[in-house]
Amino acid sequence: MRLNSRKVRGLGIFFVVSSLCYCTLLYYFFVQTRAFAFSEGEKQIESVLLTHKAIHSFEEKVQKPEIYRLKQEGHLYSDYFSPKLLSCTYMARNIEEYFSQEREKIGLPPLYFKLATENPRIEVNAADPLERDLLQRMRSGALTKYSEMVQVDGHYSLYYAIPIEKTTSSCLKCHGDPKTAPRELLAQYGDTKAFHETEGDIRALISIRVPLDDQIKAARLIFVRLSVGTGILLSLLFTVVSLSVVQLKRHQRIIMCQNEELNRLATVDVLTGISNRQGFVAIMEQMLACGKRHDMSLSLIMMDLDFFKKINDTYGHGVGDAVLAAIGKLLNEERRSSDIVARWGGEEFMIICPHTELDGAVKLAEKIQSCLAEQEFPQGIQMTASFGVAQYRPQDTLDQLVDRVDVALYRSKDNGRNQIHQESQDD
Ligand code: GH3
Ligand code: MG
Ligand code: MG
Repeated sequence: MRLNSRKVRGLGIFFVVSSLCYCTLLYYFFVQTRAFAFSEGEKQIESVLLTHKAIHSFEEKVQKPEIYRLKQEGHLYSDYFSPKLLSCTYMARNIEEYFSQEREKIGLPPLYFKLATENPRIEVNAADPLERDLLQRMRSGALTKYSEMVQVDGHYSLYYAIPIEKTTSSCLKCHGDPKTAPRELLAQYGDTKAFHETEGDIRALISIRVPLDDQIKAARLIFVRLSVGTGILLSLLFTVVSLSVVQLKRHQRIIMCQNEELNRLATVDVLTGISNRQGFVAIMEQMLACGKRHDMSLSLIMMDLDFFKKINDTYGHGVGDAVLAAIGKLLNEERRSSDIVARWGGEEFMIICPHTELDGAVKLAEKIQSCLAEQEFPQGIQMTASFGVAQYRPQDTLDQLVDRVDVALYRSKDNGRNQIHQESQDD
């Protein structure tokens, strides 16, 4: 498996993009799992709030009317007041305390629940600085509720704050003018604390903190599993894509090599190993274009073996083939490095001589002629050939040049063969 720099760069880009996607996914998972922990905390808060509402409703709709009835009917004296039965704050705080105790018994952390106000009757309900700030923002209408994840002593919690219902005339019985407040209330708490409230005001907020450690732990586990799972999937994807790219490139290379080989086979003569007619035409088109552009001299030699049919007839086609192959080899060896030899067809050959005037090409033809005379072919066969030589003229087409070299060759044939004739000016 070979990796070139382009491929490495492509895979590098793919790796960077995958890593960025992975990081984005991790961030998304992190946000989602944290939101999951948050929403689990909110569910707990909702449950606490519903409990509180139920306590409040029970007090307003059941307990208070019953106490007032007992007072009206004279079963209770009119100044009776006990926070245990008449203070929603008292009851809610105590019930939440019992609730936390029950939680602790089964190994659950306690809940933090407080009705916080700036004007408390007892100190435990006094708002801390954050609660004071929240109360002010809620009164101004800038805030309807508040929630945030907090860490206390290394433990995660969800803190939540919401205003209690606005002060009603019923509330003012105990929180309005101390002069009209129940005497027992005054006796227990005095006439200075938690009075002078006004109807329609936000007197307090419910401040709750529920533990989130278990939810955060669960969210982290989900996050780790998702991250590892996605990481493994992306790594597998990266590996599969990388291998596919490498495999694809390898196939492309093989196809390119096969195409090159097909092209070569299409332009090479199988018997002699030199260019075939198609190859010759392609090369000549290029040469002529170059000759035109650069005013380059170029000559062409056409060679036709003499009486070749007799070779086939006498020794058989196989021997004829062997002779043709040997001729191809000879031409290839005798040509100059810039010359190109080709099999024009049958027992006819072409030699393209770039940068060569007519005389030079004639000399090359003579050299080939004498080489042929010296060469002994299979079965001791001696071969001669007739030659035609022509030079490229400006504005020549390939057909015109080939026609002239053909005419010259036939002059050699007509004059008795084993001869070299060059084109005449009239051709
Ligand atoms: P001339 O001197 O007039 O050129 O005579 P010639 O016999 O060479 O020419 P002719 O055109 O009469 O015959 C050419 C022969 O070349 C006929 C054909 O069988 C033979 N030939 C052409 N191609 C091949 C080939 O690929 N293999 C073999 N063995 N013979 C071939
Ligand atoms: Mg012929
Ligand atoms: Mg011939």
